[in-house]
Amino acid sequence: MTYYNNDTIIYQNGAYVKAADAKIDLYSQSMHYGYSVFEGIRSYKSISGDTKIFKEKEHFERLKNSALAINMPFTFDTNELIQATYEVLRLNNLSDAYIRPLVYAPSNMTYALNTESFIVIQTWAMQPFLGDRLLRIMKSSFQRPNPKGFKIHAKAGGHYVNSIIASQDAKMNGYDEALLEDMDGYIAEGPGANVFLEKNNKISTPSLGNILPGITRSTVLEICEDFGIPVEEKKITESDLKKADNAFFCGTAVEVIGWQSIDDVVFPNPWEKSISYIIEKAYKSLVRIDIPEYEAQRKAYLNKK
Ligand code: PMP
Repeated sequence: MTYYNNDTIIYQNGAYVKAADAKIDLYSQSMHYGYSVFEGIRSYKSISGDTKIFKEKEHFERLKNSALAINMPFTFDTNELIQATYEVLRLNNLSDAYIRPLVYAPSNMTYALNTESFIVIQTWAMQPFLGDRLLRIMKSSFQRPNPKGFKIHAKAGGHYVNSIIASQDAKMNGYDEALLEDMDGYIAEGPGANVFLEKNNKISTPSLGNILPGITRSTVLEICEDFGIPVEEKKITESDLKKADNAFFCGTAVEVIGWQSIDDVVFPNPWEKSISYIIEKAYKSLVRIDIPEYEAQRKAYLNKK
């Protein structure tokens, strides 16, 4: 995957610069210790033809909260960052894009606090993240980081070493992606996505506490509320999952993506017949601000009930 070429522009500390010319300090605490925070955001071409960043306020607020959670100074104005992101998209002629803001630290080889942070906003054209077929998932032997040892609600660079090794392990074993438990042995989340399951026409998802509070997870809960789909946040076990009718991952990059199997146990309900599939389609309408389609989907679901 090529993320940039000689023409690509990024935003770096108040300026629009060529990605190929941009520099970071190799003595940065972020480089050596993973002490950084970032966001994963999507923009879409809406049905009106405009480029619209999905839930931009929520993402930039989470960026700020992630920084503050790990004591990184955050002196940036989130509204200005949103404007800068639209400008980067425009300069790169992008509409359906992935957006990556990253807050990083100055040179510092100690563990001491810094007095300033830096920021970069990168964008690139979006491609399907995990593909677009149903996923074969492996329950990982790696657990998510212990919330007593990490600020698990923060999207901090160093946390993603856990995601990388778990995901690589699943792929080396012939699966599409990993699913991780929390430190208590309950189902937590994927390396970069939250998880939902469907059983007897009801949806459930792990409660907050040991997972990243996903913005897509909140959107799925909102869709369930709008459509009147029964949904519960609770502790979920491996056996609950293996007895489920369907399951899916959700996240900004993966959107809503169904599973074929977990550890080769195939979900019995065909994806296209599931409520989860209705949620997938509703999500696709929301991100493109296709409110008439969203309303039509909602009415169709209510009529079928
Ligand atoms: N969990 C983890 C560990 C993630 O990295 C992500 C992606 N940011 C998610 C869940 C989903 O979060 P969101 O819906 O906000 O993208």
